[in-house]
Amino acid sequence: MPAPTTDGSPVDQMLAILDGLIAFPSVALTPNVDLIAHVEDLLRPYCSEILLSHDETRTKANLFATIGPVVDGGIMLAGHSDVVPVDPGDWTSPPFTATRRGDRIYGRGTADMKGFLACVLALVPRWAALDLVRPVHVALTFDEEDGFHGAPILIDSLADAPRPAVAIVGEPTGLKVVGAHKGCYEYTTTVTGMNGHSSRPAEAVSAVHHATRWIAGLLGLEEELVERAPAGSRFEPMHTTTNVGVINGGLARCTVAGGCSFDWEMRPVQGSDARFVKDRIAALESGLLAEMRAVHPEAAIETEAVCEIDGLEWEESSPALDLMRSLLGGDPPVGVVAYGTEAGLYQAAGIPSVVWGPGDIAVAHRPDEFVEVSDLEVCLELLLGLGSHLTD
Ligand SMILES: [Zn+2]
Repeated sequence: MPAPTTDGSPVDQMLAILDGLIAFPSVALTPNVDLIAHVEDLLRPYCSEILLSHDETRTKANLFATIGPVVDGGIMLAGHSDVVPVDPGDWTSPPFTATRRGDRIYGRGTADMKGFLACVLALVPRWAALDLVRPVHVALTFDEEDGFHGAPILIDSLADAPRPAVAIVGEPTGLKVVGAHKGCYEYTTTVTGMNGHSSRPAEAVSAVHHATRWIAGLLGLEEELVERAPAGSRFEPMHTTTNVGVINGGLARCTVAGGCSFDWEMRPVQGSDARFVKDRIAALESGLLAEMRAVHPEAAIETEAVCEIDGLEWEESSPALDLMRSLLGGDPPVGVVAYGTEAGLYQAAGIPSVVWGPGDIAVAHRPDEFVEVSDLEVCLELLLGLGSHLTD
């Protein structure tokens, strides 16, 4: 496909770009370098700099492109290149073909979030034609849908790059401004004890018993987490929550369990709560380990982090919210959502962020995912207005 230009209708160009993006089956955990190369081709004529960063296999890449001067400030438009898997049998149209029916375009990733990306790419030539004094950046990550593996690598790669002043993360919010979401920290903890006959429990170390004490300690933090909730927290529930979702352990009723593992999570409303939970659990764990190792020195409790996604913390005065107010006009309502996005990671890296994009999260991870063309048109029009924020 030729690179977009400033000639012709941006809507038609955006739709053509979306067709191209949907055709890449960029399912999380599969290579995305073909898609990134395609986006790079579209951007190349208009960018002053394009930085790629990779995972260790180099089959997956993040892209960070700068339009305009390579200086601090400016606006970062951020998204992820991957999509969730499909079961084609559940779809009424081919999932990796953008299929238009009426005002809707169907296809995996149309809402989450290639529609937003297509809008951004269609406007790049128009921003590039302006006399920008501050840049527009396009950030595109890999494997967001499987634990946000790409964004931390992208953020590390920007250590010496110009720092954007704000970020808009174009997840499908139905074009409503989202100013905060909880974090999502997911773990698997494995307790290793020593098996034995249940008639002589003192000569063994029950992994199941120690796991239940560990879990009771975690769940016992709830009252304090309720008390720690920030005044005026916009979340429902207002406080940080934890959950143990899966437990596996032991062999038989009459055997002291040698092993036990469990999957658990916390959804912090503030970063300090995550540290609070970790500190309290570490103290509990060292007491348990001392008891276990008195009988069996090899006893262990090990926790593997599946992901640690920072929340997007509410900030009463945020340059990102100010930008959205200015783009949208008036005083648009600012909401909070229950799902995680990369905005929390960017905020933690010092880039004030907001979540705003076309499409409905409710259709995003389902068969027959779609985005409405009218949503994309509104998105295009509003993003076009960014230029005036960067030319003086
Ligand atoms: Zn998404």
